[in-house]
Amino acid sequence: KKAEWAALKDAKTLTADGKHFELAANIGAPKDVEGVNANGAEAVGLYRTEFLYMESDHFPTEDEQYAAYKAVLEGMNGKPVVVRTMDIGGDKTLPYFDLPEEMNPFLGWRALRISLTQGAGEEMFRTQLRALLRASVHGRLRIMFPMVALVTEFRAAKAIYEEEKAKLIADGVAVADGIEVGIMIEIPAAAVLADQFAKEVDFFSIGTNDLIQYSMASDRMNERVSYLYQPYNPSLLRLINHVVKSAHAEGKWAGMCGAMAGDQKAVPLLMGIGLDEFSMSATSVLETRSLMKRLDSTKMEELADKALTQAATMEEVLALVDDYTK
Ligand code: PEP
Ligand code: MG
Repeated sequence: KKAEWAALKDAKTLTADGKHFELAANIGAPKDVEGVNANGAEAVGLYRTEFLYMESDHFPTEDEQYAAYKAVLEGMNGKPVVVRTMDIGGDKTLPYFDLPEEMNPFLGWRALRISLTQGAGEEMFRTQLRALLRASVHGRLRIMFPMVALVTEFRAAKAIYEEEKAKLIADGVAVADGIEVGIMIEIPAAAVLADQFAKEVDFFSIGTNDLIQYSMASDRMNERVSYLYQPYNPSLLRLINHVVKSAHAEGKWAGMCGAMAGDQKAVPLLMGIGLDEFSMSATSVLETRSLMKRLDSTKMEELADKALTQAATMEEVLALVDDYTK
């Protein structure tokens, strides 16, 4: 098996009937790029930049961030890199940043909500965007905002991005053309309204780790309610399907960077739904490429259709997956 996977390292990701899906990897630091390339990923689908902040004893400066982003873009050699702006809060804290104690940190002041708060939050965001824009000439950059609930939040973030971009260009700094700006879909309200978001964003990446916890009202860290953490539940599949179809209706692409994207039982369903990009831990890429190679995309569409229209429970969905992938 391992030998079969290794042989696929430099292969394109194609299904049995020749359909291409983009297989990408998630990273938390520039040093992870080596593993991404060693496992033959076609892109970085999620660079969680908060680790840059968490591993430092001060707010990373613009130059420190520029160096990290440049290293990742150069390391990927022209392949796409999705950089997510910082997602602090929730379970992630910073020793040098005074986050208020909250009753429900996962429902609180987190990620883009901090970035859009006037003062230190917005300054941090602007610094990060400038570092990203400067680094953009070193590869193929895609910028992604986390924890978007409202179209107006996206517009506010995009406006700040455009302001920083215009300032840099006015100062004579080189900025790449064609930087894509997209959002994570990890809040149910945004998933439901994906058809409207799709008119304004360049892409979606579905964050199932949070999307599942918020959809099921089930804390992703709480063992007692972990039975509710159900990637295969038809309700979640319907949300995902709506997001993907909404993106396609506007000519945009939809990916996934939550753990579900690398789950071998979920992949056949997501192929059938038509997800364009799958981003997972680097060590799952070759296994997934091998799985996709064995599966027929039109058969997976039939599987997804059944799961979306006929299944009531996760168990019924899993039985369908087993049926269709035997
Ligand atoms: C997610 O929510 O699925 C995701 C990829 O983001 P994180 O796990 O960093 O919250
Ligand atoms: Mg998340």
